[in-house]
Formats: sequence, C-alpha cells, structure tokens
Amino acid sequence: RVCKYSTNASSIEEPIKPTFHVDHTQLLIDGKFVDSASGKTFPTLDPRNGQVIAHVSEGQHEDVDRAVAAARKAFDHGPWPKMTAYERQRILLRAADLLEKHNNELATLETWDNGKPYEQAAEIEVPMLTRLIRYYAGWADKIHGLTVPADGPHQVHTLHEPIGVAGQIIPWNFPLLMFGWKVGPALACGNTIVLKTSEQTPLSALYAAKLFHEAGLPPGVLNIVSGFGPIAGAALASHMDVDKIAFTGSTATGKIILELAAKSNLKAATLELGGKSPFIVCEDADVDQAVELAHFALFFNQGQCCCAGSRTFVHESVYDEFVEKAKARALKRVVGDPFKSGVEQGPQIDSKQFEKILKYINSGVENGATLEAGGEKIGNKGFYIQPTVFSNVQDEMLIAKDEIFGPVQTILKFKEIDEVIRRANNSRFGLAAGIFTKSIDTANTLTRALRVGSVWVNCYDVFDATIPFGGYKMSGQGREKGEYSLKNYLQVKAVVTPLKNPAWL
Ligand code: NAD
Repeated sequence: RVCKYSTNASSIEEPIKPTFHVDHTQLLIDGKFVDSASGKTFPTLDPRNGQVIAHVSEGQHEDVDRAVAAARKAFDHGPWPKMTAYERQRILLRAADLLEKHNNELATLETWDNGKPYEQAAEIEVPMLTRLIRYYAGWADKIHGLTVPADGPHQVHTLHEPIGVAGQIIPWNFPLLMFGWKVGPALACGNTIVLKTSEQTPLSALYAAKLFHEAGLPPGVLNIVSGFGPIAGAALASHMDVDKIAFTGSTATGKIILELAAKSNLKAATLELGGKSPFIVCEDADVDQAVELAHFALFFNQGQCCCAGSRTFVHESVYDEFVEKAKARALKRVVGDPFKSGVEQGPQIDSKQFEKILKYINSGVENGATLEAGGEKIGNKGFYIQPTVFSNVQDEMLIAKDEIFGPVQTILKFKEIDEVIRRANNSRFGLAAGIFTKSIDTANTLTRALRVGSVWVNCYDVFDATIPFGGYKMSGQGREKGEYSLKNYLQVKAVVTPLKNPAWL
C-alpha cells in the first residue's frame, strides 16, 4: 500500500523504567487486600513493550460473592449509610486530599498500565479526579427529600435514600476518571460498592481505593475486584444481592449487562457506551483553529475516547485547505514513550486494539478513502500507531461508521447544513458532537438538531465534575457527573401520615 506521508517517528526508544514499586495487586475486599479464592493471577502488561508490569489477583464468582457480601454487610449493618452526611463528606474530602498528595504515584500507574502520556495523567486526569471527589463530597449534605402537597388530610414527604449495593464496571481508557465518576456519586449518596476494573488496567483503582481507606472509609464500603468481563463482570451484573449496576464500556457489552440485570433481580442499570461523534467545521470557521481543535477531538488519549470526534465533517468551501492542514498537524504529532516530557501520543492499550485499528486503516484504504498521513505501526515493540488521516471518506465506509478507538481521523465533505444534520445523525450512536462556527444561528440550529448527549461549540472534550455526560440512542442510558448522577444512586420513598387536626389541613 502506498503511504505518501508518515510521521517522523519510525521507532520508539527503549522504554523509561518508572522508579516505582507496584504494591497493590490483590483484591480489595472488606477493607483488606486479599488473594483471590482460587489463588489465580493474571498479568497486566506495559503497552510500550508488552512486558508484564505485575501479576494481579484474578477475581472470579466466589470473589465477587465475597465482595458483595462485604458490601451488603456494610450497607445493612455498617456505619456508611447510617453515619451523618457531614461525616461521609469529611471522609470524601480527606480522600480527595490524599489523591492530590499521591498525584505522582497515581499518574505513574495510569501511564504505565494504560500508555497515556504521564503529563496528561498528572496534569489533567488526577486533578480532575480530585476535583470530582470534592464536588461529590459537597453533595453529601445536600441530598434530601421534599414536602409534597396532598389532596386530603395527609402530611406527605419524600426521603431520598441510597439504593444499596452498587456494582460498577469500568473500562481501560480512563481508569482513574471512570473510577471517580462511579464511586464519587455512589459514596456521596451512602451506597456501598463492588467495582470491577478493566483487566487491561487494574492498578490505579486499587491504589486510589487504598487512599479512600486511609481517609477513613469503613471496611466493606468500597470493594475492588480485578478480573475478566465474562467471569467477574458477569457475576457482578447478575448478582442477586447487587441493587444497581453502573457500566461504562462498549455497546456490545452494555447489551449483555442489561440482559444480565433483567434476568437476575431487575437491578437498575446505567450505561455509558460507545460513540462515533461528528465534529462539524462550518464554512465560516477559522481553519487553523478548527484543524487544531478537530485534531485534539480525535487524537486525545491515542484516539481512545468514547466521545472522540471521529467523523470530521468539513464544509466544501474550506475542505481542501482543512485536509492539507490536518495532515500537516498529524505529521507533527509527537509520538513516543509516554513518560517522556512533551510526548502527545503513547502506545495503544494492547495488541488486540492495535491489530483492530490497523485493520480499520486497511479497510479505509481498500474502500477508496485517501490516506493523507500515517497508516502504519511504529517500531516492532509495543503498540504504537502513526497518527493517521483519511480524506475523501464516504458515509457508508466502515471507518465512518464503526468506533475505531484509535488515532485515525476521517474527514468527510458536506455542502448544506440540513445535509450535515441528516448525515451526522445517521448513526446508531449519539454520544457527543463538536460544532465549529462563528455564527450563533448555525450553532443553535446544529445544537438543537443533533441527537447527542453532549454538544461542544467551538471547544471539545470540556469535562467538569459539574457537567452531565451520557449518550442518546445506543451510546447509553442515564447521565454521569453533575447533579444528574445522584439520581442513579438514590431511590425515593414517599412517607404519608394522616393529619388528625382538621384545623391544620
Ligand atoms: P468492554 O465493553 O470490552 O469492557 C468494559 C468493561 O466491561 C471491562 O471492565 C470488561 O471487563 C467488562 N466486560 C466485558 N465483557 C463483559 C461481560 N460479558 N459481562 C460483564 N462485564 C464485561 O469495553 P472496553 O474495550 O474496555 O472499553 C472501550 C469501550 O468503552 C468503547 O466502546 C468506548 O466508547 C466505551 N467507553 C464509553 C464511555 C462513556 O462514558 N460513554 C467512556 C469510556 C469508554
């Protein structure tokens, strides 16, 4: 295959070895680090070279049972849901302080296990996690019911109560942030938790959970089970003693989770799933700025973002200029060891994703899209892929329909606003969208018309603890972050008492 352009990177140097010892590799059950019942472990690998970082205890059915029993006990008899909201808040605030203090350890584990740039983990993700835990600590003492009017001699009020034991299953692309999005609201509302990390990235959540215990979290409130999806994940989603399941991952697995929840005890479920988000560059856009933002929207985190702006729609009047500049920007992207300062892109998570992305790149070429930049793997060690740009992409091509989850930008041409609305919405996903325009009218039209859970106008990937996130269509059910997330972890009890004295009706 002809690759006209490629990044400067043709090989990656010897990986930098973190001066760090991985201490926490066991399961965290009832406040203690313990081996799995079977004694089994699985290796977690360094995406820079495929070498083993550590052997991690593998949780299976019996371990999920143990963890759920600990969470059940902590909920039914333990202090957590019964302690005052102020006490819960103080523990969460202390945990946030510890997360902040251990930024280096957390960011190191995140980079080592996942391959993302250390600077991104240390300067963006750990601070975001800390802020999010503080935000939900702030909610702990603001959760309360309402007084409700009744048509008759009754006093009515509602209690907002925790659901109980929350099962939580998270993916590998943002292990720490996904941990925070899940545990923050659940703990603030007084639930207890069994969280299953991704088998690709088990390390950082174990370390973070240890810090929560140091902050004073009672045993059994937050249990972490490392393990594989179809075994540990399925055991959690189908457990009769789990009251709620919160899942982030692929749409295919989301369907399985919903089925397991329904077939077991009809537990409540929230799903944060995949996407194929449009990034729309209008004819009035400043092309240089649009190129930079579209590049960030797609390539951030090695392209492994559920909300990656992975269909770049560009108006025909600026299309050629945009493609030239997008290509130049991709060729300048700094790919390398993620522990090295200034590196923008590290390796993909593992060999499976790596091969999958290369296959999609091949399909793009075979289907007739123009490969403008990249398209190749880098070096023979680890899972590095060149920042790749395709132009002349058509809607029906696989690279324009499927979630590639890699550093592959696909640029499509459009002419009319109505046309781009129809094409952008023509997807089974509906997670996010980016709009780049100087016109408030165009921005308003697109914002209303796009069937997605997040719209970023002249910006992208702006995440804050306060901003709800979630998908329309097959991108999910429910919202995480912000006040909206509390609903996922609360149930409402209506309390009615007769008013005996008619004078006070
Ligand atoms: P995945 O669905 O393969 O795995 C996610 C989690 O589910 C892992 O912990 C895995 O072990 C577990 N799992 C897998 N099979 C299971 C089963 N049968 N039963 C129970 N649990 C099971 O997804 P992934 O490859 O880890 O993550 C990438 C996907 O996640 C992408 O599709 C991405 O878009 C999505 N994602 C979505 C969001 C969001 O907020 N919408 C955020 C991050 C990632």
